[in-house]
Amino acid sequence: MARYIGPVCKLCRREGEKLYLKGARCFSPKCSFEKRSWAPGQHGRSRSMRGGAGRTSDYARQLRAKQRARRNYGVLERQFRRYFSVALKKRGLTGLNLLQTLELRLDNVVYRMGLASSRSQARQFVNHGHFEVNGVKSDIPSMLLRLGDVVTVRESSRKLEFFKEIAEIAEKRPSALWLNRDLTSMSGSVVRLPERAEIDGSLDEQLIVEYYSR
Ligand code: SF4
Repeated sequence: MARYIGPVCKLCRREGEKLYLKGARCFSPKCSFEKRSWAPGQHGRSRSMRGGAGRTSDYARQLRAKQRARRNYGVLERQFRRYFSVALKKRGLTGLNLLQTLELRLDNVVYRMGLASSRSQARQFVNHGHFEVNGVKSDIPSMLLRLGDVVTVRESSRKLEFFKEIAEIAEKRPSALWLNRDLTSMSGSVVRLPERAEIDGSLDEQLIVEYYSR
């Protein structure tokens, strides 16, 4: 599955807020957003000083909300639109359905289990075949999990020094409450769908729904 391979710190500057896409670096003084928080591009700085001119229309707000969510989960436009179609067909609130669908991606679940410092690192782990779902090797980060699915670090990967360190680090990272994590067996299962309060509060799903309903 295609993915964005450009400079990720630019994305934070474009959205005007930290998206935490680079793991530990995002919490260190090396974070680019701490040094240059204005939008990228020739006129980015002057626009920011004018309060982000050109971003006040409804369309601009809807677009930014959609882009913000897309970048948060590292999903390209076509796939994001597909997730929206899936959410639209489900019962209940489309916006919440969309966020829950995004949360159930395998790379996100690995990240939420605390086994990776960022979604992009989780994606790499999955791509490299370190995980299995319900006992079957899975190297597709976009795989959507269902209730009861069990994600495990593969036996062969558990022996790697790197994963031993990850297990120690993960002990200090809380797992999402909608997942049942067991660090002894390096596994976790989806026990329920995440509630809205358990998903990134800065995402505005209503604006995303409005964007795709134009
Ligand atoms: Fe964004 Fe992290 Fe880069 Fe800072 S270090 S700009 S939070 S991706």
